[in-house]
Amino acid sequence: MGDLDALLASAQSHLVVARFAEAKADADAAFLLDPGDSRVRELYQNVYLAHGIRLVGEARERRRREIELRGKAGEPFEDTEDVRGLFQEAVDAFERVLAVNANNPKAWSLKAQALFRADRANREAAVAAYDNALKALDASVPEGPLRDVGRRNLSRDRRRIEARCPRCDDTGFCPECTGSGWRVTLGFRRKCETCLGHGICKRCGVL
Ligand SMILES: [Zn+2]
Ligand SMILES: [Zn+2]
Repeated sequence: MGDLDALLASAQSHLVVARFAEAKADADAAFLLDPGDSRVRELYQNVYLAHGIRLVGEARERRRREIELRGKAGEPFEDTEDVRGLFQEAVDAFERVLAVNANNPKAWSLKAQALFRADRANREAAVAAYDNALKALDASVPEGPLRDVGRRNLSRDRRRIEARCPRCDDTGFCPECTGSGWRVTLGFRRKCETCLGHGICKRCGVL
């Protein structure tokens, strides 16, 4: 198992200096070598959680840039293929974690968020993922204050998405500028002050 130890050590050294792509390559190789090893499984889960979180961040950033580039007030906004693809890749990353450990509450809740952020048509699947996160929490964290805090946070996040947002008619976009981030008064265009130009609904701001 010398190879495995070397891969694990290499992955750690990459993670310490935030070389995520290299760490992920090591985690993939280690997982191929011995998917049953507990250290490998832990590394693999951590690496793919981080990978998914980065992808969601990238999707949101790109979506924001697209809103800014459009810069036309009054037009509803739609994601490009790029943004949709990034959200999908993120969901895939969280599912990889869950394939290794179905009782990873973080992976379930991140999957729920990514699904809902990507498209509200996914509400039902996102709520179901939060329910699974709660079950996974009970299965993986012993009774006590840590579990209680986790339960509270997950329940709050679940409540935020379980019903349609009345403020933005559940579009997720700022109702004042219909998601463009811009407003026009007397022919002058200015950044929307309600959403600070992000085009995102303040109440359900989970885009
Ligand atoms: Zn809203
Ligand atoms: Zn606005």
